Amino acid sequence: MLQATVKSKVVIEGVGVHSGVGCRVSILPASENCGVVYVLGDTTETAAIGSCASDVGDSGGVRANYANVSDTTLCTRLGYGKVGVSMVEHLSAALYGCGVSNAVLCVCGGEVPILDGSAAVIVEKVLAAGVQWQRESRKKLKIIQTVKVEEEGRWAMLSPSDAFLLHMTCDFSSKGLTTQPFLHEFSSERFITEVAPARTFGFLTDREFYQRHALAQGVSPENTIIFDKNGLPLTRSQVTKALARSSSAFGIANDTVTEAATDLRFSDEPVRHKVLDAVGDLSLAECEIIGRYDGFCSGHRLNNLVLRKLFADSRNFLVT
Ligand SMILES: [Zn+2]
Repeated sequence: MLQATVKSKVVIEGVGVHSGVGCRVSILPASENCGVVYVLGDTTETAAIGSCASDVGDSGGVRANYANVSDTTLCTRLGYGKVGVSMVEHLSAALYGCGVSNAVLCVCGGEVPILDGSAAVIVEKVLAAGVQWQRESRKKLKIIQTVKVEEEGRWAMLSPSDAFLLHMTCDFSSKGLTTQPFLHEFSSERFITEVAPARTFGFLTDREFYQRHALAQGVSPENTIIFDKNGLPLTRSQVTKALARSSSAFGIANDTVTEAATDLRFSDEPVRHKVLDAVGDLSLAECEIIGRYDGFCSGHRLNNLVLRKLFADSRNFLVT
């Protein structure tokens, strides 16, 4: 597989799901072997176009690499202190899904906009701008030995396979949903149709946790499916009523909510979304992945830990 970048600038903007404030990311073309690099602010845009990752890194950027993940609470955050970007997983997944391996991402607002809660909007914009294939091949990561990480009954595992397979099982029995297994054999086409449109989700029963920790300030029916205690997705008006009773938890402005029902895009949309997150998190290996990922109720933290464990021992993998 060849390396690729975007043919022209792509801009995504909207609310940040965690901060609740507006944010914007400009995706700029980059040269071969640059990798995906985040830089803060628009002022660097002109200088960043076409520049190499190492140059950008010297000016305060952060490379989209698993080793630069600094926080995995509800999302994946890259970088440290002020030079940090949250919520990179859907954008990372969209770029991997479109085959884009080199790009400079200029970020305003500290996080990637949540958009509709999925990767579909980003995929659509990247494809509309066009994918520019480059001359050099992308590095391949072949998994040679199985590695597994486990925490409190959840686990993530990488094992050898001739293709990039992702098998996720979500046990939502305590949340009123049935257990959802989903196997995805990655290809750009399948990712774009079967995984990228799956949206972020949450549970009404968790709202106090989010409130207490001032998390998920920007959640709205426009970007998150919210399930009730019986595992049913709330309609927009149900969300509005529920949130009004909890002193506007999730920061929903009543006047922006309309009465369209929150229909699921897939009957197993939550587990597909977990696969979307896993593709984004694993893309931080910065390689085309040849191996199998299995997850049981795993999330960003275990996804990052399993990559760290893989790369900690050179007998586990082969990069060519
Ligand atoms: Zn997600």
